[in-house]
Parts: sequence; C-alpha cells; structure tokens
Amino acid sequence: KQAAYASLRDVEPFTRCGTRIQVMMNAGLRDDMSMLAMTGADGVGLFRTEFQFLVSATLPQRERQTRLYRDVLDAAGDKPVIFRTVDIGGDKSVPYLASEVAEHDENPAMGWRALRLALEREGLMKVQARSLLEAAAGRSLYVMFPMVSEPWEFDAAKAVFDEQLAYLRTKKRLLPERIHFGAMLEVPALAEMLDVLLPKLSFLSIGTNDLTQFLFAADRANPKLAERYDWLSPSILRFLRRVMQSSIGSGVDIGVCGEMGGRRLEALALMGIGYRRLSITPAAVGPIKELVRKVDLAELTAAMADWLADPQRNLRAELAAWAAERNI
Ligand code: PEP
Ligand code: MG
Repeated sequence: KQAAYASLRDVEPFTRCGTRIQVMMNAGLRDDMSMLAMTGADGVGLFRTEFQFLVSATLPQRERQTRLYRDVLDAAGDKPVIFRTVDIGGDKSVPYLASEVAEHDENPAMGWRALRLALEREGLMKVQARSLLEAAAGRSLYVMFPMVSEPWEFDAAKAVFDEQLAYLRTKKRLLPERIHFGAMLEVPALAEMLDVLLPKLSFLSIGTNDLTQFLFAADRANPKLAERYDWLSPSILRFLRRVMQSSIGSGVDIGVCGEMGGRRLEALALMGIGYRRLSITPAAVGPIKELVRKVDLAELTAAMADWLADPQRNLRAELAAWAAERNI
C-alpha cells in the first residue's frame, strides 16, 4: 500500500487539456496528516474536528484543541487545511451531550446537530473559534461551517469568530494572517439561497454524503438503501450542475468534499459538470490524480451535457463505456 501511494505521490493532476484539478484529502486525526505527504494531496479539504470531541469523555479543553489544530497546521506546512467546526449530535453522539441530543432526536440526521447545536451551545463554539484562531497565528486559516441550512446561520457562526478575533486583538495577540470562511452545502434548501449566501463566502464545499441522503430522503446509514439510489443519478448531477452554474462569476471557490469524489466514475461526472476541486479519502488521492491526467475536459463536458439532457440514459453505463473506450 505504501508503495502504491509513493508511486503516485508526485503525479500532478493536470487534465490532458492542461487544466489543474485540485485533489485534496479528508482527515480528522493528527495521525492522518502523514498521508498528506504520502499521497501528494493538494491539502486537506475537510478536517473533521469532531473526531477529537467524539473520542473524549468531556468537552475538549481549549489548550487541547489548540494543540491539535497547531499540530495539524505544522504537519501541513504550506498546504491549506480546511477546518470544519464540530459536526456532533445526531448519529455522532458525545457522552457530555448525549441526554440532550437523545431527548429531541427521533431522526438524528435531521436533528439538533452540527451548527444547530453549536450555535446554541455558544461556549462550545467560542472555545473552538478561539482555539483555531490561536493555532493559526501568523498563518492562513480556513474555517468551514457544517449543515448550514439558511444563510443567517453562516452569519451567526462567523460572528462568533469575529468576536473572538476582536478579543484577541485587544490582547495584542498574534492573529492569523488571513481568514477564509466557507460553508458546506449539505442541506438542499441552501442551494436556493446561493444569491444571498455566496457573496459572504470565500469557498463552498458540497458534502454529498449528507446532501444525497436529504435529496433522496434516504438514510445514508441504512444498508437496505445503500444500493438503491445512485450518486450518478440525473437528479443528483443536475442539482450539482445547477449549483456550479449559479456560482459562475461569484469568485467563490466551489468543491466537493463527500466520498463521491473519490470514486472513478463519480469523479469523472463531477469534472464533466464543472467541478475542479475534490476532497476525498486519502486512499483515493493517487488513483484520482492518475485518472485526471487521462481526461480531455472538453470532450467529457460535452458528453455529460448530452447524457444529462436525456435522463432516460443510464449515466453509470454511459460513463463506464466512455472511460473504457479511452482506456481511462
Ligand atoms: C458530507 O456530508 O458529505 C460530509 C463530507 O460530511 P460528513 O460525511 O462528515 O457528514
Ligand atoms: Mg455531512
């Protein structure tokens, strides 16, 4: 496995027509960071900060959080790391909030989780904001909010950071050089509000794991439904294409950080509807970089447009045949 990673580490993900695709990796533990050098990923497109919260019996203290975030940034060097603020609650239960979460949640994925929880437990959000700002002193900080459902939730979350930033400024502490705020698009309703949301953001990352479960109303954890709907269904791809098209001219960097992007045909489909940044599981980074190099984007874009115009076509079969014909 190590050898497989090493052989693809230095592959630069340029398409045949010369477009650079950003291939980033998803992470959540300090130990995951060694994969950055091993895979040659362009950075961490999703750092799931809740892992530290999930393995802890009590709410992680500020010093512990700061240490983790600083270690992660040190390990990343010049490469960007997008820290996602905690996505706990729902199925990601933590002992110190368990009773409160369970009390309300018959339907945990749609429940009191992520930003919904964090904005009401403001202490939790404040401590995390302060830890991230301190850890990134003197460097760039990328912060992303999960499960944003309405634009005001982004504003409220960012306000917590602004307040902590103001506090650190009064204390004359070293601040991050630049802070980039972004949102995850996981809740379909948010896609109707991009005209309001995008001007607030520097990046948007589509969480296709949650997004597809909400689009199809199909629990992502239910094995009986695992095979029923396809990531390559026209409904998902048309939705994702519309998001991409709505963002043209906004200057907002749009990517996908769901597991979908780590699969061959799915990655092709995403490139074919305009996506140029994927954040995926580390094991997929090498194979997807190699795939990118075999693609002619103009040809793929035209093929995807044809297939999506005729939703009777089986996109999985079409893409598989298209790839096979080109030895992709
Ligand atoms: C997603 O929902 O696609 C995502 C990347 O977040 P998570 O898998 O952690 O819910
Ligand atoms: Mg999610």
